Amino acid sequence: MLRQYGHPEPAAPIGSPEWLQGVIDGLVEISSKDPLTGLANRRTFELALARELDRVARSGEPALLLTLDIDHFKRVNDSHGHSAGDHVIRAVATALLDSVRPMDLVARVGGEEFSIILPNCPSPFGETVAERVRRRVEGNPVAISPTQQLRVTVSIGGAFAPQWVRSTPALWIERTDQQLYRAKAHGRNLVRLEPSAISPVSSEERRMLFDHFQSQEHE
Ligand code: GH3
Ligand code: MG
Ligand code: MG
Repeated sequence: MLRQYGHPEPAAPIGSPEWLQGVIDGLVEISSKDPLTGLANRRTFELALARELDRVARSGEPALLLTLDIDHFKRVNDSHGHSAGDHVIRAVATALLDSVRPMDLVARVGGEEFSIILPNCPSPFGETVAERVRRRVEGNPVAISPTQQLRVTVSIGGAFAPQWVRSTPALWIERTDQQLYRAKAHGRNLVRLEPSAISPVSSEERRMLFDHFQSQEHE
């Protein structure tokens, strides 16, 4: 049953409690991880993002969300084939994992798109950590054959979670997407972070805060 999803069957005798536990563990892994890279999948990412927003709203602790997209990835597939493309995606996944802390969540959220949730990341460190990720990918050319190495770069957009207000995962993602778009538009292989001091909350988030106070007044 698990094998059809590329996961090994438990070694214990079929029907034993150990076998059943193995099947359950396997199913949890299949539903939470991306099979190509072993990173968290989109579902796990969205659950973690909602949890992190809730934590920030309650604790006021700063958290950074980064959205990354491989630059000119279509060219890799077109020039070197789909399996070389898959190889590049796996190599980027490893580079991302190697450049963040164990507490940070790295997820593959789309074909060649990744997200990283960085809890407890004070805003002066945001630029530093995002730059470290970008440079790590740039500094690790990917060997797609014994004789061929590809230079791979990513564009990164980032935004801090709004503190002291209840936002939504979708709004937070949208803000990082806007910054990713800027990084692409300014030439790629770049980091763009939302300037947190200038725009800590979007107008929509402010409206949510306003609605919250209004509903309190009527209580
Ligand atoms: P940009 O710098 O603007 O991001 O350019 P791009 O070429 O990377 O453009 P885009 O993001 O639109 O291209 C994504 C490509 O990724 C298209 C699709 O064929 C390819 N892709 C998506 N998922 C996979 C996958 O799992 N494996 C491989 N090999 N390719 C994939
Ligand atoms: Mg893309
Ligand atoms: Mg791309």
